[in-house]
Amino acid sequence: MKKTYLFTPGPTQIPPEVVLAEASPMIHHRTSEFSEIFANVSEDLKYIFQTKDGEVFTFASSGTGGMEACVVNSVSRGDKAIVISGGKFGERWAQICETYGVNVVKIDVENGKAVKPDDLDEAIKKEEDVKAVFTTLSETSTGVVHDIEAIAKVVKGHNLLLVVDGISGIGVQPFRMDDWGIDIAVTGSQKGFMLPPGLAFVCVAKSAWESIEKSDLPKYYWSFKKMQKALNNKTTAYTPAISLIMAAGKSIEMIKSEGIENVWSRHARLANATREGMKALGLELFAGDDSGNVLTAVKIPEGVTFDAGIKKLRDETGVTIAGGQDELKGKMFRVGHMGYVNEFDIILAASAVEKILHENGYKVELGKGISKIQEILVG
Ligand SMILES: *Cc1c(COP(=O)(O)O)cnc(C)c1O
Repeated sequence: MKKTYLFTPGPTQIPPEVVLAEASPMIHHRTSEFSEIFANVSEDLKYIFQTKDGEVFTFASSGTGGMEACVVNSVSRGDKAIVISGGKFGERWAQICETYGVNVVKIDVENGKAVKPDDLDEAIKKEEDVKAVFTTLSETSTGVVHDIEAIAKVVKGHNLLLVVDGISGIGVQPFRMDDWGIDIAVTGSQKGFMLPPGLAFVCVAKSAWESIEKSDLPKYYWSFKKMQKALNNKTTAYTPAISLIMAAGKSIEMIKSEGIENVWSRHARLANATREGMKALGLELFAGDDSGNVLTAVKIPEGVTFDAGIKKLRDETGVTIAGGQDELKGKMFRVGHMGYVNEFDIILAASAVEKILHENGYKVELGKGISKIQEILVG
């Protein structure tokens, strides 16, 4: 018997209510019934981004599609953009920008560290004619959370456009589009939103439209202007992912009824307990004090072959945690705890880590991580 428990940093577990909403009979998208669902979802998404004046566009795509949409709508060929790159996803901004002929200046942050706002300030001062800064809220490849509020202060001080990849972070980490002065932010459905993969949500503040009007990069499907026009008519420009949008209606209703700040603090509490549980096993956090609440990234102890253990556990029991990506493969593992996650889930995830360590030659006192987590959560 195999029962799937996803502790991966996307896709994540989905509440049964959301699964049922997604399984609703198909309706046509050019109907008042769909328009009402879509208008409600688009409105409620503003709450999750914490914006009043911004608009949220919903694309049928993975998060990366939403990132590409942000680039092609906000800058022009030859524009200079600063990209904060401290991992795979920061790097992705650079790759997309370069694909479109945007002149990228990278701030290379050490893997496992958050960018220092002062370093960003220096970098902006050193360069001439910077148009935009692209950054990441939660760098899912390393577990780091960047201080977007502080970054925004720096960027706004120079009057530049700020574009944030919040794909795993939004709906998990505190995030305030309006209060922090963010111009464009993107997120995806399969991380903190308790939804399957397939939707990208892009929030565009009023302050971004001057750049959007000027942007000359090629775009057809990804055009914000087309999305805005359609949204004003309570619809989408092309066939939307109808079932996913119905599912989003349910998951966002659940987030709203819990309250976004409570959702943030639930993640903070679970993440803290998970980190302490890992430390109790004698393990070291990959991102140290810069760890976010989306996932816990942990260094694999010297001499332990952890990745084969991850695969074995997944194949035999369905409990799935993630290894490191690219050059971090074999160096760290990641326990995702975003979205539909409660305290018993993280205890289960910690027991999986203990089992893998135990089976792979790392001397571990079984139950030590779990009991630390219990201790913290019981309070
Ligand atoms: C998952 C993730 C992405 C990529 O999203 P896809 O849906 O796989 O395209 C980009 N950025 C961050 C921070 C992520 O966590």
